[in-house]
Amino acid sequence: MRLSVIKSKLTEMLKEPNVDSFDELASFGPINDEKLISSFLKIDHRANDVNKQKLIKMMTESGFLLEGHFSLLSGMHSKYFLSFNNLARSTPRLHAVSELIADIIIDERIEVDAIIAPETAGSYLASVIGGILFKKGKKEVEMVYAKTDDDKKPTSIINYLGLKAGSKVLIVNDLVTTGAGIKELYNLSTKYGVTVQGFVMFATRKRLQDIPWPPNSGQFRFALVDGSALENHTYRSSDCPICKNEQTKPVPSMYLN
Ligand SMILES: [Zn+2]
Repeated sequence: MRLSVIKSKLTEMLKEPNVDSFDELASFGPINDEKLISSFLKIDHRANDVNKQKLIKMMTESGFLLEGHFSLLSGMHSKYFLSFNNLARSTPRLHAVSELIADIIIDERIEVDAIIAPETAGSYLASVIGGILFKKGKKEVEMVYAKTDDDKKPTSIINYLGLKAGSKVLIVNDLVTTGAGIKELYNLSTKYGVTVQGFVMFATRKRLQDIPWPPNSGQFRFALVDGSALENHTYRSSDCPICKNEQTKPVPSMYLN
């Protein structure tokens, strides 16, 4: 993220009652160490070794993993933050990660009539995946987007005409921290009588089996990157060691996505 963008976002934060000045906020920066990235971020076994290596390199070079002091949307504090925006800013990188995911959707023979994604960063991942599926011989996928509120929570479907009753729908998002966002997407989709085939994410901060999936919500649950190792560096705000030791205010993550 360019410094000017960060500064303008931080200026917005000054309007918040609990943030008085830039100086109180923790500084943060990208981790550019492949070994550290590999130790925190595990790539799905279905990607081959060459692609795994490429992905590690992309995550390292793009500043996908930030280090500092962050408050996550869940309210938890963490030393680390996953920035899909940093990765997806480059079109070749966005295309490469979308293709890795699309190939696995094809290999797993998941039928998709429509993809629903939130209007936030998940939307560009979703639309590139939809385009690649079509290019690789799958049928044209309807793209449907959900409006989100200030907390990035999906609230309503923007172009709902794309969601026809009986459609086979895949729910796509860039990152999943608690699972609350994708649950909202699921609830919005099922209002239209569709069949949810499953969930696809670029990365999660929890193990897939620890995410509270809506009951009967499809069998396919896939994240290209498992960032659950970051949970060891995630704390309740009341006992965050970074707050205690460094006495900095965490950077609200909603301004980084
Ligand atoms: Zn803290």
